[in-house]
Amino acid sequence: MSDAKHTARKFALSKWPKGYRIAFRLFVALLIAAASNILLSLWLDTPKMARIRRDNHNLVTQYTILQEKIRSAEHTLADIKHRDQYVYRPLLGIDTLNIPQVYSDYNDSKYADLPDGEYGEMIREGWLNIDRLTRELYYASRSLDDTQDLAENKEEFSTIIPAIWPIDRTKLKYVSSLYGMRMHPKYGYWRMHEGIDLSAPKGTPVYATGNGVVVGSGWRPGYGEIIELNHGFGYKTRYGHLSKRYVQAGDSVTRGQVIGEVGNTGVSSGAHLHYEVRFRDNTVNPIHYFNKDMSPEAYIDLMEQLEESTKSN
Ligand SMILES: [Zn+2]
Repeated sequence: MSDAKHTARKFALSKWPKGYRIAFRLFVALLIAAASNILLSLWLDTPKMARIRRDNHNLVTQYTILQEKIRSAEHTLADIKHRDQYVYRPLLGIDTLNIPQVYSDYNDSKYADLPDGEYGEMIREGWLNIDRLTRELYYASRSLDDTQDLAENKEEFSTIIPAIWPIDRTKLKYVSSLYGMRMHPKYGYWRMHEGIDLSAPKGTPVYATGNGVVVGSGWRPGYGEIIELNHGFGYKTRYGHLSKRYVQAGDSVTRGQVIGEVGNTGVSSGAHLHYEVRFRDNTVNPIHYFNKDMSPEAYIDLMEQLEESTKSN
């Protein structure tokens, strides 16, 4: 028997005392268990990890629902904005509210502290959407305050708004020039025509189109004899090329009151009334203010007629 064989036999387990044998087997079992646990955890989650993943998954789901709710709130808000902008405001004759920078996003540095990583983009997007919603809510509420103000004063407002034709329509020969860019008939270059030209016989009575106060009555280059009314609520009207003026600065006028007569003064070729509507010191298209004494059919008719005449120009 060689020494090696002898040694092997010497260490054979069966030769160990019983207590050691059990302890050794337990130790090996533990070692295998630990090793397999490590190996398995590479493919399978530990219970704790599984719980974290489940929580994480729930959070993402909740977050997605939240995003969906923000989107639906945005839609509702868009609907309110649309009604304010395209229904209430035109109904009350006010322009769209403009608060600079309300619609621009914050710059990126605001979101620099947000966590990066797998869900960074999602969280960032959430913040962006909420910020946008907050701003638009502010905008919409400001706008509705405005609208409410006017609605409360609607009684008065409806009397001042320049809402009738400045001359008797049966006296109107034709609309000789529309509001907008045009080749100037006398100067021969393109420029903005800030009102509408209503061709009518000299002496045709000119009406104040809304209640107001005369702020100008006299001669002005280009306009000739002109009357300017201030109606309040941001509205002014101008009546140019008159042959006669019946009112003076400071006079109060009511809608339909005769303030002068059609003429051919100033830069004008033929008797006509140059009629201008100004809102907050910007000219607007007077056509949109003729609706009060026109049936919808007549209005459509006129619009078509005007469209034709612009095409042929
Ligand atoms: Zn004109």
